[in-house]
Amino acid sequence: MDTANTPPDAPPKYQLELNPLKRIPLLKAHAHAHAHPPPKPPTHLPVAKKSHTHPSDTSTSAHPPNTNKKTSASLYFIGTATTVLEWRGIRILTDPNFLHAGDHVHLGPGVTAKRLTNPAVDLDALPPLDCILLSHYHADHFDQLVEASLNRQFPIISTPHAKKELTNKPDAFQAVYDLDFFESMMLPVVLPPGVEGMAGKPVVKVTGMPGKHVPPGILSMANDVAGAVPPTNGWMLELGSVAEGGAAPGEVETGCRIYISGDTLFVDELKEIPKWLKNEKIDLMLVHLGGTTIPGPSLPLLMVTMDAKQGVQLMQLMDPEVTVPIHFDDYDVFLSPLGDFKEEVEKAGWGKRVVYLDRGMSIGLR
Ligand SMILES: [Zn+2]
Repeated sequence: MDTANTPPDAPPKYQLELNPLKRIPLLKAHAHAHAHPPPKPPTHLPVAKKSHTHPSDTSTSAHPPNTNKKTSASLYFIGTATTVLEWRGIRILTDPNFLHAGDHVHLGPGVTAKRLTNPAVDLDALPPLDCILLSHYHADHFDQLVEASLNRQFPIISTPHAKKELTNKPDAFQAVYDLDFFESMMLPVVLPPGVEGMAGKPVVKVTGMPGKHVPPGILSMANDVAGAVPPTNGWMLELGSVAEGGAAPGEVETGCRIYISGDTLFVDELKEIPKWLKNEKIDLMLVHLGGTTIPGPSLPLLMVTMDAKQGVQLMQLMDPEVTVPIHFDDYDVFLSPLGDFKEEVEKAGWGKRVVYLDRGMSIGLR
């Protein structure tokens, strides 16, 4: 058998139980509250300004909806690449960035960026969460406010590079799980009271997906670029269940599959993803756009995330049921506006398969 071109399918590297009844506080302020406890965080996200559901009843999608499994996940867009995924009583936060308009981030030697937007929710107004999924250690995804405020015990899933950075410093983070490309971990879910059960044990399987934040060939040219552009993961999230006993390690009956691109360019490595999927479909794709363009001190301008054209190429490669663009207008280094993406999407005839969320809006998945 020719396995040379097949991405690896190793058993899960870690297991992290998500139990909404035993949550670890997200913030230091809540973890170390003794004499003067801060106000308790709210129990829910704000009501979304507008909510879409997919597949909708009038959906003309190529794939029939998954009717045999109740997934009912929802994804709330906060800003940049920050979202909250809710499913079966648990909440996963992606790429926490809670700075406000006018704040600056340091993206590497000689590179700063100014935030132009506000998050839909503030960091201290988040409801209780179960873990963080961090695509890469970069300040527009994990800013200085977040870094200073987070409880060091709160679980973070990220890249090997981010783990090194987060755990090798004074006041180090204590619960960082590193996943390389195609490495996975299992997040078994303990259903809280009142949440409907399902056949088998609910689980979220997280797998690192390839991503490349630097144009091929550039990395070897200059160390300052390496410093400004850390390695990134994409993610595949499989929401589903494992059979009681019996299942092979990592084997999931998947009800809903969510792909998050991370800060990648459209590169050949991404073609490994459809191969790894073996014809399984992606229900929802979150694509990091923006055509992020940074100046290197000794280099011309360099585009380090997908622009409109590449975003459409990614849709064509991954063929997701629905795509939601994120990471497109929050910083002054995001030079490819969402309008350009809309135009390219319409030109390609993919308009019905894209949902545009403003900050504070959510999408529900059946
Ligand atoms: Zn970014």
